Amino acid sequence: MRALVTGGAGFIGSNLTDRLLAEGWDVDVVDDLSTGSLANLAEARAVGARRFSFHRMDIRSPAITDLIVHRRPEVVFHLAAQADVRVSVARPAFDAEVNIIGSLNVFQGALAARCRKVVFASSGGTIYGTPEELPVREGHPQRPESPYGVAKKAGSDYLHYYRTVHGLEYTSLAFANVYGPRQDPHGEAGVVAIFIGMMLRRERPSIYGDGTQTRDFVYVDDAVDACVRAAERGSGLVVNIGTGVETSVRSLYDTIAAATGFDQPPVFAPPRPGELARSALDPARAELHLGWKPFTSLPDGVAATLRWFRRQAGTGVTR
Ligand code: NAD
Repeated sequence: MRALVTGGAGFIGSNLTDRLLAEGWDVDVVDDLSTGSLANLAEARAVGARRFSFHRMDIRSPAITDLIVHRRPEVVFHLAAQADVRVSVARPAFDAEVNIIGSLNVFQGALAARCRKVVFASSGGTIYGTPEELPVREGHPQRPESPYGVAKKAGSDYLHYYRTVHGLEYTSLAFANVYGPRQDPHGEAGVVAIFIGMMLRRERPSIYGDGTQTRDFVYVDDAVDACVRAAERGSGLVVNIGTGVETSVRSLYDTIAAATGFDQPPVFAPPRPGELARSALDPARAELHLGWKPFTSLPDGVAATLRWFRRQAGTGVTR
């Protein structure tokens, strides 16, 4: 079995690549390394060139379509994205070039190569807009409030078109807030990585607003497991990948402070305009159609993430 993973040098994509290789897949990774890193692919490269290859390529280029046709993967996992909501607000056309035009280049390749399936990384925190009820189910109206959310919704809409008109199978995974090893602690998303990175450096992290805002944190191994299941199941669906549990940013802070032994209070900064007050995704459809349930508790996931950050600090690896 051959898979092609776009965005495979990134946080979720590299964890997915390692899992696919471990399960015996041959894997092609496509990434322009704009936010991803070759360091994330060290384990994959150790598997050897017979089963793993890396292609440095921008999905905005039609060359990605040709590459997919040339490599003929059975399944395309499309994770490459401009993944920063605030960049999408500042530069909506750039966001659309990557997240809409780039996605179309990938989908055209999957169609031309007669791939069995596309698994698409969508975003449950943005496609629904402000939730009318929590936890959010997939039938909730989709009224995204950022260009990034609009593009993620469009990705699933295009895939619905490709399936209906051309018979290309897909599953869109609407991820909650994914956290774990390899998340960039310097990024803008990824509050778990940011808090861990700063607390390990003995710096006080900021909380925007009073910290009562909630998010749904899902561990990366669990998210990757959903991707692998979606290669076989859940066709034609948008499926939430979250825990259904709301965790306040303040209680996340306390959990990470306890795990790192950090004893200082946060710096409270003014709330950020446009941020959701509450977010959580109902994972019932994932259980029904993918046989998926979150299996890592927040304290266990935080502990595993912390071990990874400490190992990185010990080896002097920077990213
Ligand atoms: P990431 O930034 O680590 O991964 C994205 C990867 O795409 C990076 O390796 C980057 O270099 C690559 N990329 C960006 N633009 C590209 C381009 N034009 N051509 C080729 N490669 C390009 O982010 P992540 O957190 O691993 O996210 C993976 C996917 O999951 C993204 O589609 C993101 O929108 C989605 N997602 C993530 C979360 C989360 O909490 N991390 C939540 C919802 C959805």
